[in-house]
Amino acid sequence: MKTKVTGSTIEISIEGPISEKASLFEASIQAYKEIKLNLSKVTFINSIGVKNWILWTCRIPQDATLYLEECPFVIVNQINIVQGFVPKNSFVTSFMAPFLCEKCSHEQIVKLSKDVHYFYTNDQSPYKIQIPEDMKCAKCGGTMEADFIMDKTFSFLKNS
Ligand SMILES: [Zn+2]
Repeated sequence: MKTKVTGSTIEISIEGPISEKASLFEASIQAYKEIKLNLSKVTFINSIGVKNWILWTCRIPQDATLYLEECPFVIVNQINIVQGFVPKNSFVTSFMAPFLCEKCSHEQIVKLSKDVHYFYTNDQSPYKIQIPEDMKCAKCGGTMEADFIMDKTFSFLKNS
């Protein structure tokens, strides 16, 4: 686990599985207003990991905001399936989504980002999903299609 503190913001990067022993759960977070969690190197999460994760997020101060960066697809699924997996004040800044080429079946992981590919509800407008339709396959130049159910995967936007 790596941490970096700038004023009232703490950035935490974690690696490996989220299970009974993940070092994340020892991170002290009470004093911060913004918690930026980079999950790009997380491999998987098991049921004990989910339990510990929720206990950890419960320690986040009410007035703090949690940002989840570069979430593996498995984590996005947890956010959507497990109620209370993330506190109210939280945003998925970006996540890794599987795409599939229609022509050659090449699989490609594409990073989808907040305010580029999807938008949370705000005062002016409801949430929005904006995935480009002409995403090109790196192998053959064919068109890439989402290998996931758009509506299900983005249910975190509705629940926020
Ligand atoms: Zn292709």
